[in-house]
Amino acid sequence: MCRRRSILWLVICAAISATWPGEVSAQIPGWKGWKAGIAQSVITPEEPLWAAGYAARQRPADGKMHDLRLKALALEAADGQRAVLITADVLGFPRGSAARICEVLEERHGLRRDRIMLAASHTHSGPVLEDALYDIYPLDENQKAAISRYTRRLETIAAETAGRALEALRPASLAVFEGSADFAVNRRNNAEAEVPASRAAGKPLHGPVNHRVPGMSVRDSQDKPIAVVFGYACHATVLDGYSWSGDYPGFAQLELESRIPGMTAMFFAGCGADQNPIPRRSVELCERYGKQLADAVMEAMARPTRTLEPTLKTAFSTLELKYELPAEATLRRMAEGTGYTARWAQRLLAERESGVAWPDAYPYPVQVWKLGADQYWVALGGEVVVDYANRLQERIAPGVWVAGYANDVMAYIPSRRVWEEGGYESGAFAVYGLPAERWQPEIEDRILAEVERLADALR
Ligand SMILES: [Zn+2]
Repeated sequence: MCRRRSILWLVICAAISATWPGEVSAQIPGWKGWKAGIAQSVITPEEPLWAAGYAARQRPADGKMHDLRLKALALEAADGQRAVLITADVLGFPRGSAARICEVLEERHGLRRDRIMLAASHTHSGPVLEDALYDIYPLDENQKAAISRYTRRLETIAAETAGRALEALRPASLAVFEGSADFAVNRRNNAEAEVPASRAAGKPLHGPVNHRVPGMSVRDSQDKPIAVVFGYACHATVLDGYSWSGDYPGFAQLELESRIPGMTAMFFAGCGADQNPIPRRSVELCERYGKQLADAVMEAMARPTRTLEPTLKTAFSTLELKYELPAEATLRRMAEGTGYTARWAQRLLAERESGVAWPDAYPYPVQVWKLGADQYWVALGGEVVVDYANRLQERIAPGVWVAGYANDVMAYIPSRRVWEEGGYESGAFAVYGLPAERWQPEIEDRILAEVERLADALR
């Protein structure tokens, strides 16, 4: 960092630490505001595992750039209602893992499903988890056993970390901010190799994007920032090597934590299924995007922010999303090819021959939280394309936060536009393994209607 930038950051850090309105007084009996608790754990695999996300990888990961982490933020409103946000440097929490973590949290802490949000960063340098992405790698039984061991450990750590965050609840204040960062590029509408030249020439890039960096800061009774939660709609795919890392969201969180010591930074991936950080593929670029996001958060926190009243409402539902089963002829043709699509087709053909009955719908998780009078936070499962974030800003509120990759990641979730255009982001079922050819065409309408139904119930 150059000297002038360092001085700028000193000024911004000083502004954030010193000029905050001192409304929250010390630990007070009968406190009527928010309470917040934070905890975190290292989740870097201890044994060799495959990193998730790229079918082109040839072998398990063999080292780390930095530790992978799982973090929990517990919130308690003035009326005692509680909720927990869990974020992690993983591609996505599979359905089974999410269910097991939530069962334990209900049993130990009485938290209902709607009060737990599991948000992944979608790093492509985190481990493969149980029952997700099995067809894209040549996994042997030893590898599958190692993945199961790691997944059980991750679930135990998630429940334990959330428990510690709940035990750490203490008076706090929450304030909403919004920044922006422009490294996300619509990967369906721009040729990756041409993006740097277009940017340099000031030519516009194509296709929908959502460059918002929405989030909130959490401050203790001394007005000291203890946590920051922020999101961005872009694939965490700068790196594709064999070292564990949180990719650019990992670097962004480390950067924020080094700029404000004692503060925990938590990232949730937005609707970035059709967005890539471009250019990419170097550690230097990964750090640069991390810093760019951290700058966006710091600058937004230093501006006047909106304080949230201490009320909390939550809703969760599962929507039966229908899909078309693959035709046998399609599977036979694909099975004769090579790579992961052939492995997927061969597995499905074997299942078909042994009489496995495939479901023709998926229980898709939709969650909505409302913090204070009007801060809506939507959490959608799957790899959600950016149209959803843009539509929900129109249909719910301009300041809505929309997390994708939340609570379960089972396939790509196309908008009607992407469904009609087709291509990878219209489903990519062979990646995650669902026995599906394509989603029902009404997928976008059904998901948006369900979000509206839940949001209305919280109004
Ligand atoms: Zn992805």
